[in-house]
Amino acid sequence: MSASTDKTPSAAPEHDGDAVKPSNFLRAIIERDLEQGFQPARHFAGSPGDAAHHAAGPLDPARIRTRFPPEPNGYLHIGHAKSICLNFGLARDYGGICHLRFDDTNPEKEEQEYVDAIKEMVAWLGWSWNTPDAGTGSDTVSHLFYASNYFDFMYRAAEYLVTQDLAYVDEQTAEEMRVNRGDFRTPGTNSPFRSRSPQENLTRLREMRDGKHPDGSMVLRAKIDMASPNINMRDPTLYRVRRATHHNTGDQWCIYPMYTFAHPIEDALECITHSFCTLEFEDQRPFYDWLVEHLAAGGLLARPLPHQYEFGRLNLSYVVTSKRKLRQLVEEKHVSGWDDPRMPTLVGMRRRGYTPESIRAMVESTGASKTNSWIEYSVLDGYLRADLEGKAARAMAVVDPVKLKLQNYAEVFGSLEHREACSAPAHPHLPELGQRAFSLGPELWIEREDFMETPPKGYHRLYPGNKVRLKYGYVIECVGAEKNEQGEVTAVLAKLVPDTKSGTPGADAVKVKGVITWVGVHDGIPAELRLYDRLFTEAQPDSGDRNFLDFINPQSKRVVQGFVEPSLAGAQPDQKFQFERHGYFVADRKDHQSHAPVFNKITGLKDSFGK
Ligand code: ATP
Ligand code: MG
Repeated sequence: MSASTDKTPSAAPEHDGDAVKPSNFLRAIIERDLEQGFQPARHFAGSPGDAAHHAAGPLDPARIRTRFPPEPNGYLHIGHAKSICLNFGLARDYGGICHLRFDDTNPEKEEQEYVDAIKEMVAWLGWSWNTPDAGTGSDTVSHLFYASNYFDFMYRAAEYLVTQDLAYVDEQTAEEMRVNRGDFRTPGTNSPFRSRSPQENLTRLREMRDGKHPDGSMVLRAKIDMASPNINMRDPTLYRVRRATHHNTGDQWCIYPMYTFAHPIEDALECITHSFCTLEFEDQRPFYDWLVEHLAAGGLLARPLPHQYEFGRLNLSYVVTSKRKLRQLVEEKHVSGWDDPRMPTLVGMRRRGYTPESIRAMVESTGASKTNSWIEYSVLDGYLRADLEGKAARAMAVVDPVKLKLQNYAEVFGSLEHREACSAPAHPHLPELGQRAFSLGPELWIEREDFMETPPKGYHRLYPGNKVRLKYGYVIECVGAEKNEQGEVTAVLAKLVPDTKSGTPGADAVKVKGVITWVGVHDGIPAELRLYDRLFTEAQPDSGDRNFLDFINPQSKRVVQGFVEPSLAGAQPDQKFQFERHGYFVADRKDHQSHAPVFNKITGLKDSFGK
């Protein structure tokens, strides 16, 4: 049975967490395979290698082997999280092992910087490519591999195909090759170089390898069928001449394998059982099978052979997830870098404050299906709130501050110097997190929007003559405001109502309809607050022929100076809080310092998307 016969509906995003088990047709495939004892005598020599290498090794203790195979040419994004969680998650669930393999066969675009960042992010998401050593039980067996370490084998495989008359060197120009490939309606035309003898081709291939021919002058192609209805089977290119320094192999090679040739070989050398990839590779599967089958028949690759299965990509609304487009955003400085908190890269999302738990929960809720899915950003935010609600400490912060002056402060407390201690639980349901302490003084910071001189109907906050409660403090009555020459409010004036402190018997004596948050002028900490919104104004900014750059949201970042309560003095970079009434914030992992705090807004308390 091939994966393409599986019909599973597109995974519906679920808002209520794990109430419904997401459908995942890949599980069905693995369970069927395991039930049928799909690979009874599968040997694994403990490291990647050819048929002889594995034949000499023991039976594979892993029931299945999967891999996450990123190309180290950029930073991972939310779409990759799907592939990571599927591959590592399925291996974990079925007694298998997942390899982290850098698909670094393309010399031009790959860098160590990306290798390091990818490793960091896979680990951040909570996965490990190390497994316990059978002998010691400690986490010491690494399953981290580099495809470039297989270049020797790949070249050997290429020579083998040539000797079997299954590959040839083609000297047509790129344009001739394109024209002769035909299209969906027209079969291709055989290259005039297709009928060369294996011996001639071998000589040519060796010359290519030895640097005797300029870049682009010739390629090695598989000899399959130029009339195949599947264009990928019309003699696909296997090797090209390219003088470029590779981050791992340096200048050792001037020919490099194509991805479609390299990838199946990588899987087979690592004894991957289930090679999961995204749907766009479906048409490559016949070549994948052709290649590993021929190389196994020739005794080069170990049997049983890997199989490819395709699943639908994960797309998130209001972002783009293509490395090329993300790179453009960075290089053209639309964002501050790969880790800009608005970027859907994992480094960006981490900096924004998304937790690995929330990303995993969102990805898992989408299961796996045979169609590409679009997930609303608000679904991810739902998982984030569900995660942070139960663990983020609370705090008060004022985002758009205006001063509130308590005119009768000295009368009530005997002196302007008096500080009236107030407290609140760090978390309403986690008493073990303790209490937050802050205090009331004669001047407080409140939100500018909490005062209106002439309020509309239904406004219950401060306006002359109205009473509200200062959260965790006293009831106050508004008496007016001070203004500057332009008529702007520079301070709100109010009077404390004595004996109404929260938590005291008098607290309920005066009924109010509004409660406002505040921070003391004397003990509030000035903080930079970075208020983020979605990066694009359109849900699918890169759909159709549109230029995604036309839909960048000019209001996606707003930086304001606010004040936060004194309990945040010890906030550590990456620490997350719920700022009461405002939403979830995180101390910026790059810029936050105790003497100059910086908090990023992660998301609001409720889903306000599109409202
Ligand atoms: P991009 O198209 O963004 O450049 P890529 O597919 O070229 O991504 P790779 O490094 O080749 O990036 O991807 C590693 C793995 O992640 C591949 O198996 C790929 O299929 C998978 N992957 C990439 N994007 C998504 C996505 N949106 N949803 C699910 N899997 C994805
Ligand atoms: Mg790719």
